[in-house]
Amino acid sequence: MLQKILFNDKEAKNHIENDEYADAAKILLRHQRLDWKMLVDGYESLGTQKSKQFDFNGFKIKVQFNPGRIYSTVAKVDAESINNRKCFLCTENRPEEQKAIQYKKNNVIICNPFPILPEHFTIPHINHIPQLIKAAFGTMLTLSKDLSRYYNVFYNGPKCGASAPDHFHFQSGTKNFFPIENELGFLKNEFGTTLAEETGFNVTGIDDGLRKFILIEGKKESDVQFGFDKFYRVYKMISKENEEPMMNIVSIYKEKKGWRIILFMRSKHRPSFYFKEGDEKILLSPASADLSGICVTPREEDFEKITQDDIVHIFREVSLGKEEFEFIKSGLERRLNE
Ligand SMILES: [Zn+2]
Repeated sequence: MLQKILFNDKEAKNHIENDEYADAAKILLRHQRLDWKMLVDGYESLGTQKSKQFDFNGFKIKVQFNPGRIYSTVAKVDAESINNRKCFLCTENRPEEQKAIQYKKNNVIICNPFPILPEHFTIPHINHIPQLIKAAFGTMLTLSKDLSRYYNVFYNGPKCGASAPDHFHFQSGTKNFFPIENELGFLKNEFGTTLAEETGFNVTGIDDGLRKFILIEGKKESDVQFGFDKFYRVYKMISKENEEPMMNIVSIYKEKKGWRIILFMRSKHRPSFYFKEGDEKILLSPASADLSGICVTPREEDFEKITQDDIVHIFREVSLGKEEFEFIKSGLERRLNE
């Protein structure tokens, strides 16, 4: 079964043999855009749609009208709906045209037919196992390093953005497309509290008025993993979720700087606007991309009417509360420095 869906291209294979997964993925996308109709339509829809931008003193949030994302935005992720549908990330259910690149032992890289970024991939586990980051964080670090020539890697928790919470997957897409990537230095200086500071390893708590997140910067993989483990443990203490504390993660890797990990903490999956009726309704279901500054509205009416105040309201509502954030910052600072 797996052989049939593997991307069989000589140039890509050469790259894979040299661990140049970013180049292999780029070739995969180029080929898939030639002959996979669903993907061609997805990119065409992305390229022709409108976007607008809101400026917040020193950082920005863009809004993208993207009708192709409707299925993901309104995805039903309750246990019953999940049990009653065929999993679209399992090998046997994926469209035959969707080719895959094997990534190490346990993952494959496939093209996302409903892109948000100019180049957008999904990286599912080869087995149908639940979306839980704890044991997979190390893979996220390696993967983001291996894709870093062109792409970042991101993760949406099972209760805050993943449209397949039952099948483990990362996503990956074009570097420097999420506004937050180039604003991290500013956000850190302006809104950050230092929690750990060593040569080549920094942890900062950031609240910019919209989002609350922990930023881990590290040159050594073991340091970044250490920082994440401590963060996870502290966050778990106040989380009401059985599975894992709600989070969206973006991993950025640069050869000289190492990793920058953005850990957005959440209190809620979808904002109250999402559930309203008629004129008051705004279909926006925030996940990594939205929190990183690319808000996706699949309905044109929402794109047109959404205001800067709505964005503030939505982001504050789905982000972690102030008290919990203070608890995490102080608990994390203590554990990082003991
Ligand atoms: Zn599956």
